Amino acid sequence: MSFAQLGLSAHVLEGVKAMGYTEPTAIQLRAIPLILEGRDVIGSAQTGTGKTAAFTLPILSKLGSHQKSPRVLILEPTRELASQVETAVRDYCRFTDLTVAVIYGGVGYGKQREALSTGVDILVATPGRLLDHMQEGACRLDHIEFLVLDEADRMLDMGFLPDVRRIVESCPKKRQSSLFSATVPPQIETLIQWAMNNPETVEIGARRSPAETVSHALYPVNSMQKNDLLIEIMERLHYDSIIVFCRTKQNADQVGSLLKRKNHAVTVLHSNRTQREREDALKGFRDGKYEVLVATDIAARGLDIEGVSHVINYDVPQHPEDYVHRIGRTGRAQASGDALTLMLAEDRDHVASIERFIGQTIKREKLDKFEYKYTSLFDDTKSSGGNAPRFRQSRVSGGYHFGRSRK
Ligand code: AMP
Repeated sequence: MSFAQLGLSAHVLEGVKAMGYTEPTAIQLRAIPLILEGRDVIGSAQTGTGKTAAFTLPILSKLGSHQKSPRVLILEPTRELASQVETAVRDYCRFTDLTVAVIYGGVGYGKQREALSTGVDILVATPGRLLDHMQEGACRLDHIEFLVLDEADRMLDMGFLPDVRRIVESCPKKRQSSLFSATVPPQIETLIQWAMNNPETVEIGARRSPAETVSHALYPVNSMQKNDLLIEIMERLHYDSIIVFCRTKQNADQVGSLLKRKNHAVTVLHSNRTQREREDALKGFRDGKYEVLVATDIAARGLDIEGVSHVINYDVPQHPEDYVHRIGRTGRAQASGDALTLMLAEDRDHVASIERFIGQTIKREKLDKFEYKYTSLFDDTKSSGGNAPRFRQSRVSGGYHFGRSRK
């Protein structure tokens, strides 16, 4: 089925065409007709499935022409996601006269107040800053017709649920709501019952987990050699763009400085950096000014950064889901990707829970011709019998990425 057959408006179809989309993704096929019909929709889908267009295109089709008060509210958990979704919405509505504003914290109020006072049709917002504007009377939600709660499980993780409730309460009862969430824990279930009207659930199970589609491996190492191994791997990879994930902001800063000293074009993204620095980091990385983005998990979820050729986990993530989110940054849209994780002896338990979570043993690799010092991890294969992970020699990812790193 084509986009044209889904019943979208002519201007929206023009926008879709300009984006170069030829056919709808699974979630778009299922959700667009339901939203056009006026149904509330719960989409259990992750980023990368095309969910932004799945909710935006039918809403834009139903909005008609520009009016002076916000009629669509899209709530996002982080500033980066809000900004990414705003860009997508602008792209999709560029052949209409509809207007969009994005509202998030960490930046001045002036421009946002100005945008709100001129009157926009679509608001993309994070909950905290939106409430600030509501409290000072700069923003009213009494004309909202379409409410989208995007990445609801992430909003829950970040403690935004009370704020979300207050915002939903300020929207008219008569509205159409959509909620997207990769998982539906009990608190989201309660929110659904309370905020939505006889919703239809659209589950997109077909997308395979990055754990199945991305080639990924563990690189056990003695803690004293962690930095040396990272430098050596980076030297040998033929990468286009690479994200290095760290568990803490301090590690991210330290790894960023280390790689800068080794002449990699590096930028660092974590929540202690100012909004301006975060935007510059992401923009520079997207534009190719930086080839390496060193980030904490704030960057792991949701961000759609195209063409990341590799992910390196400098630290093993503490939560198994974060492993999947992190390695999912590479191998998007079927591009080949590789994810490498440095593992210390103290990471054994975390790795075991990741392996349970993804239902597979992750292969262990040893970098060819690297002067390894001993770690007890090297004994794991000998001691634990038949199912033990086996080490393979690696020149990094089977050898085909071997060589001097950057172009
Ligand atoms: P999302 O899941 O909304 O973050 O979208 C992931 C990526 O898929 C974005 O880069 C979109 O531009 C892209 N995308 C969305 N829908 C389609 C489509 N029907 N065909 C091709 N690409 C798409």
